[in-house]
Amino acid sequence: MALDIQAIRRDFPILSKKVYNKPLVYLDNGATTQKPRCVVDKLVYNYYNENANIHRGVHFLSQEATEAHEEARRTVQQFLNARSSDEIVFTRGTTESINLVASSFTDECMSAGDEVIVSVMEHHSNIVPWQIQAARKGISLRVIPMNERGELDLEAYRQLFNEKTRLVSVAHVSNVLGTVNPVKEIVRIAHEQGVPVMIDGAQSVPHIPVDVQDLDAEFYVFSGHKIYGPTGIGVLYGKEEWLDRLPPYQGGGEMIASVSFEKTTFNELPFKFEAGTPDFIGSTALAEALRYVQALGMAEIEAYEHELLRYAEAKLEAIEGMRIFGKAREKSGVLSFLVGNIHHYDMGMLLDHLGIAVRTGHHCAQPLMQALGIEGTVRASFSFYNTKEEVDVLAAGIERVRKMF
Ligand code: PMP
Repeated sequence: MALDIQAIRRDFPILSKKVYNKPLVYLDNGATTQKPRCVVDKLVYNYYNENANIHRGVHFLSQEATEAHEEARRTVQQFLNARSSDEIVFTRGTTESINLVASSFTDECMSAGDEVIVSVMEHHSNIVPWQIQAARKGISLRVIPMNERGELDLEAYRQLFNEKTRLVSVAHVSNVLGTVNPVKEIVRIAHEQGVPVMIDGAQSVPHIPVDVQDLDAEFYVFSGHKIYGPTGIGVLYGKEEWLDRLPPYQGGGEMIASVSFEKTTFNELPFKFEAGTPDFIGSTALAEALRYVQALGMAEIEAYEHELLRYAEAKLEAIEGMRIFGKAREKSGVLSFLVGNIHHYDMGMLLDHLGIAVRTGHHCAQPLMQALGIEGTVRASFSFYNTKEEVDVLAAGIERVRKMF
């Protein structure tokens, strides 16, 4: 069933805000998404009604909060179609999830000279954690190149494997190019070589249906704030046998079975990876966000955002001097562009004064910018609450800025 966009927009109070006395056109969803009322209400409800530290208290309120947190974990499990809720670890977000895997996987499975395969279009958060491990342990990175459309070169990818390859870690969707990488195929190729895979789902989970059992990756990570949930909460999915195998990332309360000064034993999954008081308020609000998008339907969201992307591409391509970066055949709702010689920052600033929020710069993907031979782009990134009218405002805004230069 088609989405009722106007009804959806009413669920997001901020969308009726004015900036510089103009209606806000929010096209920075790749950076973070706006929150529906139900998610914010859930945060407030929890603080007023279910706030007690979890897993430790015998009292009523603590048990209620614990049950809500674990119910949220089951919601995430079901959303990703994971086998077990033990495979769902709550973290602070994609960045922390990747750092967790980089640290624990390197400790357990890698030694000097071993290699991790990433791609040229990774976000810094899937590059720098590996470089930190490289400095600690002498591991190194191999990089999958892309073609001119911004699609990963799978033949080159196959050639990167050797007896030193220990892990593949790639983005499902590029935050700059919008490319939807063929992760199922990427996983299949890695598995042929006996190599596990981590997928950065920061830009995929909010926009396309994801089934972790179908993809078969060992690890899959995402952030709550990019899928209409609160900031400060995210998810690491890991196959049980892998999470079991990896050592804890941080030490503290919650993640132990017993502690003495002589010896500490660790808790079972998933608590082994959740040291300290978890964000039990955020987890339940994230679950609320997942229920919200599920009620709309991930397939419906994908179809609508795709329609919006195609509409925007046609509109923007008609603008003189327009260069769009990322022409992949499989693409999600991200449009990176430059117009003539106009600096991305100037374009972003001037669009902002028209009420249009876009991202400018390197988008935390400087190696990708180097590969493209540019310093940065302007990026419009869409959500299901955006409209074709907003795309028209964007196109008219860009045209206006172009004429000024
Ligand atoms: N990976 C990708 C592809 C992203 O787009 C982002 C956020 N821009 C991240 C990782 C990092 O996410 P977070 O800042 O929520 O940890």
